[in-house]
Amino acid sequence: MSYINENFLELQDSYLFSTIAKKVAKFTKENPEKKVIKLGIGDVTKPIIPACLEAMHKAVDEMGTEEGFKGYGPEQGYSFLRKAIVENDYMARGIEIEEDEIFVSDGAKCDCGNIVDIFSQSNKVAITDPVYPVYLDTNIMSGREIVYLPVIEENNFKPALPKEKVDLIYLCFPNNPTGTVLEKEDLRKWVNYAKENQSVILYDSAYEAFITEKDVPHSIYEIEGAKEVAIEFKSYSKIAGFTGVRCAYVVIPKALKGYTKQGEEISLNKLWNRRTCTKFNGVSYIVQRAAEATYSVEGKKQIIQNINAYLENAKIIKEGLEEAGFTVYGGVNSPYVWLKVPDGMTSWEFFDKLLEEVNIVGTPGSGFGEHGEGYFRLTAFGTKENTREAIERIKNWKK
Ligand code: PLP
Repeated sequence: MSYINENFLELQDSYLFSTIAKKVAKFTKENPEKKVIKLGIGDVTKPIIPACLEAMHKAVDEMGTEEGFKGYGPEQGYSFLRKAIVENDYMARGIEIEEDEIFVSDGAKCDCGNIVDIFSQSNKVAITDPVYPVYLDTNIMSGREIVYLPVIEENNFKPALPKEKVDLIYLCFPNNPTGTVLEKEDLRKWVNYAKENQSVILYDSAYEAFITEKDVPHSIYEIEGAKEVAIEFKSYSKIAGFTGVRCAYVVIPKALKGYTKQGEEISLNKLWNRRTCTKFNGVSYIVQRAAEATYSVEGKKQIIQNINAYLENAKIIKEGLEEAGFTVYGGVNSPYVWLKVPDGMTSWEFFDKLLEEVNIVGTPGSGFGEHGEGYFRLTAFGTKENTREAIERIKNWKK
């Protein structure tokens, strides 16, 4: 008999976005004449940037020659990319990270999900609520105890330190779904907490490139001592049109330790390296060359153009909604805008009303957790034209 992992039965039945897709498909089928605008899912609309395309073409041609062919590569990523990451994402900010502290991967989603492999099931895990569902679901799958940290209007979307001792802490800033940020002082509290409690912070920095304000840290390692307590996740998905290309990386400093039951210190970098070599054969050479090109002069310029265009959409959404009388958060250092649904309505009721009356798709806040109830997420990843039209519709609808 093959026994299943019964933790899977604890998961919520339907993944948020498939429920939305079903509702939208039904509406479109019943109303084929209506133009539905999707400001829901977090996929981008801008294609792969030219600098990366060029690098990919070149790498494809190289792979077709005997001299240039690459077979299995290093599981942790090619040195050319790890070096570019160290220099551009860390050294340029005055942060010292070594090449062998970087692990290139096929996505921050996989990294955030897979990282639990190296931690004991007995760890108590703190997860913000509402939250990017991957952290929660992967910990439910592996049967860990979860402590929820509300991120709500009342605490200015800054989670309070847990009252009890937790072992693992997921933080994601700029945040998905709320679009809000932590300032350096806020993050310092978490680093201190982790030090005092020998916990590890899993810091998802997938939206770092959208930060526009000065006191908002781009990396947790900007905080002194963070290398002893934090793992950081980064992604190329939203900056260079990589959602379908798939490339990201995780940083595990060598100073970061976990513990055996007997209290012996173990390097988490070593464990993750072992896990990576066992379960992963590296990201394709072609994709890693494309990721490297994000750091070229042209690549950097094109990324800034992309980010600025998305941030402009965020501004259109935020200001338009405010004009229409909504209370709105996020959208300044983030492609996500988090709005309060009108009083007396649930997030899903607002979803249905928005879809049926103005034909706009967003994401119900309650889909990201209990404390997301009463909120709604719109994303800035659509085209400018569609974003403008959607906001005009909402403004006229409210009149
Ligand atoms: N982390 C957060 C907070 C995200 O919102 C997303 C994607 O939406 C990811 C990670 C996934 O990134 P990737 O495309 O690199 O898997």
